[in-house]
Amino acid sequence: MSALLQVRGLTAGYGAAAVLHDIDLDVQAATIAAVVGANGAGKTTLLRALSGLVRPESGSIVWDGTELRGTRVEDLVRRGIAHVPEGRGVITELTVEENLRLGHVWRKDKTDARRATAEVYELFEPLARRRTSPGHQLSGGERQMLAIARALVGRPRLLLLDEPSLGLAPKITAQIMALLRRLRDDTGLTVLLVEQNVRSALSVADRAVVISLGRVVVDDAADRVAADDDLRHAYLGF
Ligand code: ATP
Repeated sequence: MSALLQVRGLTAGYGAAAVLHDIDLDVQAATIAAVVGANGAGKTTLLRALSGLVRPESGSIVWDGTELRGTRVEDLVRRGIAHVPEGRGVITELTVEENLRLGHVWRKDKTDARRATAEVYELFEPLARRRTSPGHQLSGGERQMLAIARALVGRPRLLLLDEPSLGLAPKITAQIMALLRRLRDDTGLTVLLVEQNVRSALSVADRAVVISLGRVVVDDAADRVAADDDLRHAYLGF
């Protein structure tokens, strides 16, 4: 089966300095791939390159059979790719409801957009209670939920999720990881998950992609990576 997302020879960075070198990556539909590695390894840059925020120097990104390089960011959203950046990007002056609306203003099917909004309120009960609260009144966990919810109302097929556990209590992190699993199983969502919290990422992921100094050094089943002491010590620091 050919992978839903196929990255080949991707080299990308900022200005003249390449951060990612010759990245190859296959992500199968309805799987969760954890992207892990030391600080500064290039994980965030990889997500940014996939979502068009960083322009690749070379290589190809094939999504569902077509090349993505050169596609405008807004078209990537229409093609089912949603990016939840590190730091979350919730607009704190807007209410929960208004933030969610931003996640689907571009959709033509307004009936389904309303249905998707109702669904995320079911998934994230605290958001339903705080529909009319401005973003700045939300807790860190609620903001993270809102950022993910805003991506989900666009009904993405691929979720690029950067550090969802940052600053969150372990219990909330566990809830978010459980939710990702549920979305994968129930809706066939494909997830690329960047996480500093390697243990929780590996516990939820199907595959683990270990990045070191901008290169993929391991791409294997997540449970095998979690069980490999040498590899964990060498690249993952635990
Ligand atoms: P972290 O977990 O610390 O976020 P990361 O693996 O996600 O690390 P990146 O954020 O992708 O790593 O950073 C990779 C390299 O790119 C680092 O050396 C960083 O300093 C550099 N870098 C990141 N953003 C920029 C930028 N906007 N301009 C220039 N260099 C950048």
